[in-house]
Amino acid sequence: MDWDKLGDRAVSTLSEYLRIDTTNPPGNEAPGAEFLGSILKQEGISCKLYESAPGRSSLLARLEGKGEGKPLILLNHIDVVPANPDNWQVHPFSGEITDGFVWGRGALDMKGMGIMELMAFIAAARDGLELKRDVVFLAVADEEAGGYSGARMMLENHPEELDADLVINEGGYATLDLIAGRSLFMIANAEKYGYWLRLTRRGVGGHGSMPTGQGALDLMVPALARLLENKRPMNVNPTMQAFFSRLAEHWEILAPYGEDGDLRTLERLIEENNLTALPALSAVVRDTVSLNMLNAGVKINVIPDEAEAFLDCRLLPETEGKEFLAFIKDALDDPEMEVDVFMDMEKAPASPIDSDFFRSIEKVILADYPDAVTTPFMLSGLSDSRFFRAKGIPCYGIIPAHLGLMDLARIHGVDERIPVRDVRDGSKFLYDLVVEICT
Ligand SMILES: [Zn+2]
Repeated sequence: MDWDKLGDRAVSTLSEYLRIDTTNPPGNEAPGAEFLGSILKQEGISCKLYESAPGRSSLLARLEGKGEGKPLILLNHIDVVPANPDNWQVHPFSGEITDGFVWGRGALDMKGMGIMELMAFIAAARDGLELKRDVVFLAVADEEAGGYSGARMMLENHPEELDADLVINEGGYATLDLIAGRSLFMIANAEKYGYWLRLTRRGVGGHGSMPTGQGALDLMVPALARLLENKRPMNVNPTMQAFFSRLAEHWEILAPYGEDGDLRTLERLIEENNLTALPALSAVVRDTVSLNMLNAGVKINVIPDEAEAFLDCRLLPETEGKEFLAFIKDALDDPEMEVDVFMDMEKAPASPIDSDFFRSIEKVILADYPDAVTTPFMLSGLSDSRFFRAKGIPCYGIIPAHLGLMDLARIHGVDERIPVRDVRDGSKFLYDLVVEICT
């Protein structure tokens, strides 16, 4: 395989793909799916399009193997979150290639990975690899709105197409910021789940000139303050224990944990070194609560008789919803507060770290990126991986792109971009992974 040439192709194809506006809502993934389909067609590879609603398509293509083991799925999503061009250095749907980056909404999340997977898939076809298992390229709609009209629809309506041994998806990435001079590849084998709550508190309405202290907000606000004061206890789960134990080989401050492997030592070191001051780290060692919406009142001189609050809670895969709900009610300490779970995204078990697949991924990373360090990691956000994990299919999230910790803000933020070099190297890496796992 001429990787120089295929690398060029990956970069120009990504630039073109980024020009297709697949902002969700509404999604409009069909042109994106057709674009991917047209590239496969040029290579003589057939694919199927699945429509969940007009203009909303997912695409599946398959390279047949000998049936020794179930397929490997290369999963990606076509939709992106909205972008406001006024705030960007380049137009978010320009696909501009400049300063060594490909710029655009979706460059990282996750059209860049989609194109790398596509190139790996095409290379596997061109090379006529003797595959022992099928390789499936799956580009889905709707991930950014929860995945219900994309990955979940596909799993529910076409389970026979997606019965797999392994899924590679987004979730993890590489960073140069955590270990001096080394790329740390964080392979996401787990993720938190969303547990969204609506609180309603009724009070006594009246005239704003005569406060009673019994208005809905008078009662809601102190209860919310009690809740926000009351953080969930730290719970470093097995995935994050493995993460910190790998870091301990490189971080002096974690060395005592590296020596004794005692969870209590780790928790003490996290506290003492104030590691949870970093929101990204705080989010992966406990259940979190974010108060994101408040509704009450119609007029400045009217005491409201009802107030509503929405809490974006993110729970560790080890946390039971019921137990968490009891904690919330306890912390609010107001028996008249109504607490409804209006969205339970359902926990999915972590995919195993102690497995041949996980070791294969690590092996290929270490072969392709000689300065790399690998580690499992838990994603604090959501991805389509949860639908597959819930069905017992192991999923690992690793976008082979190098991000600074500050660059994380570009995902769903402004000036999203991916290094050109990573698009090239990542295509080859995913191909090498296919070779390792499927031949
Ligand atoms: Zn994504």
